[in-house]
Amino acid sequence: MMNKQKKRRLTWQKEMVFEAVMNSDSHPSAGDIYAILADSGIGIATIYRQLSNLVEDGKIGSFEFQGEVRYDPVMQPHAHIVCSKCNRIWDVELPAEIRDFAPMNESFGDFEIDLTWKGVCNDCK
Ligand SMILES: [Zn+2]
Ligand SMILES: [Zn+2]
Repeated sequence: MMNKQKKRRLTWQKEMVFEAVMNSDSHPSAGDIYAILADSGIGIATIYRQLSNLVEDGKIGSFEFQGEVRYDPVMQPHAHIVCSKCNRIWDVELPAEIRDFAPMNESFGDFEIDLTWKGVCNDCK
């Protein structure tokens, strides 16, 4: 019985962390998620663990930005535009043909696209 209860609790926490990433439009870090969920009482260690579980499950994406892991609700290949003042990150849609621009792309097989625009957003101007 104890086990069952523990499992349900973990699922609930995972769901909360997942929802927080999905509802964010700025590619949150673990610290951002912790701040968003401050009222829930979920600890930072649990948030780190659930975020990496979600990435492993293929439910959310992650990438490194300025030495910090940021989480991404969008799984299909896309680019980012970054504000260099507030460090918020927005999505940029990519045309499907973007993969064809890579030289030697046949010898690579599978590869990731990591493309970022940089500038200053309207809020920071
Ligand atoms: Zn900004
Ligand atoms: Zn993104």
